[in-house]
Amino acid sequence: MSSGRRRFRPRHVPERTCIGCRRTAAKKELVRIVRTPEGHVEVDETGKRNGRGAYIHRDQACWSRALQRGAVERALKTTLTESDSRHLAAYESSLSPAAGAESVGAAAGSSA
Ligand SMILES: [Zn+2]
Repeated sequence: MSSGRRRFRPRHVPERTCIGCRRTAAKKELVRIVRTPEGHVEVDETGKRNGRGAYIHRDQACWSRALQRGAVERALKTTLTESDSRHLAAYESSLSPAAGAESVGAAAGSSA
């Protein structure tokens, strides 16, 4: 009876597809946007809000692509109102421009 030690398998990391560049990434790398029950589209920083969701990289390039192509509307099956568009555009411009080299400074991570 060899008991053997338990191996620590890496936890399964949930992945989602970015609607901007269409690549999959770990959920935490992406920002969730949600269509609220009221029909608004909002950025969901917690990732826990109710409603239909879609995911985009924290990357201006992905955001502008998704917004220009109407990928947000398609993914959420809704039509963006003017204020929704403004809201999303504001979020986009709050992101740092894509450099391709992220995760350089965030070594410590965010342990709560
Ligand atoms: Zn992307």
